[in-house]
Amino acid sequence: MLNIGCHLSSSKGFLAMGKTALSIGANTFQFFTRNPRGGKAKAVNPEDAAALVRLCQENNFAKLLAHAPYTMNPCAADEGLRDFARNVMEGDLAMLEYVPGNLYNFHPGSHVKQGVEVGVEKISAMLNEVLHKDLHTTVLLETMAGKGSEVGRTFEELRAILDKVRLNEKMGVCLDTCHIFDGGYDIVNDLDGVLEKFDRIIGLERLQAIHLNDSLNVLGSHKDRHACIGAGNIGLEAMTRIINHPALRSLPFYLETPNELPGYANEIALLREKYIE
Ligand code: FE
Ligand code: FE
Ligand code: ZN
Repeated sequence: MLNIGCHLSSSKGFLAMGKTALSIGANTFQFFTRNPRGGKAKAVNPEDAAALVRLCQENNFAKLLAHAPYTMNPCAADEGLRDFARNVMEGDLAMLEYVPGNLYNFHPGSHVKQGVEVGVEKISAMLNEVLHKDLHTTVLLETMAGKGSEVGRTFEELRAILDKVRLNEKMGVCLDTCHIFDGGYDIVNDLDGVLEKFDRIIGLERLQAIHLNDSLNVLGSHKDRHACIGAGNIGLEAMTRIINHPALRSLPFYLETPNELPGYANEIALLREKYIE
């Protein structure tokens, strides 16, 4: 069975997201932990969280994916911005203990003019402050398109971060198909080669989630503009190979395509049709 869902609004709480996911044929979903531009965390209603946990169990949901606000920059030069990022991640991970056993994804950050090595150092330092042994969430680094000075475009950069994190058994990677395509990895013509490289440099056992997005831009464009499935330069055939690939087919897939709910429902149905049981 294909484990697939999409990004959902968290404005009506946990249980509402679970019900919405069911209504569009999904068996998982992604949500922002708070306003994507940052902002304060919402107080958790423990009953609402428990009700979602039950819904997920009853319906055999795959792991849920919480996405950190994308404005937080763990490798900012400014200490105040790094403190903000650390506080956001600490708060988010505490909140996620109400829905234990799921995934938390964040953008490694932008080093601006500090260079990749300093960026890697700051990101891993933050993770070393935030991660602790009793955490029931796996924290994922997202593969980035390499826009501006984003850290995490190459598998080597992600590996360098992981190597510096002490509790790295709490860590994994979320592969975004649009981002790695824009980052220069040819998943259209050489999916096997890209995954072999991933395995060699990071290790496929670290790969825990896929953001399934087509791309408006061409291979290596470093742009990061998502397209609907089949409407971009990756295309439906390559998407079909991705969801069926032996190394990927049992992972959870999350759509971040430019859609409202009916569009997501259609893409989920289409991909379920393309999945070879
Ligand atoms: Fe993201
Ligand atoms: Fe993504
Ligand atoms: Zn993106």
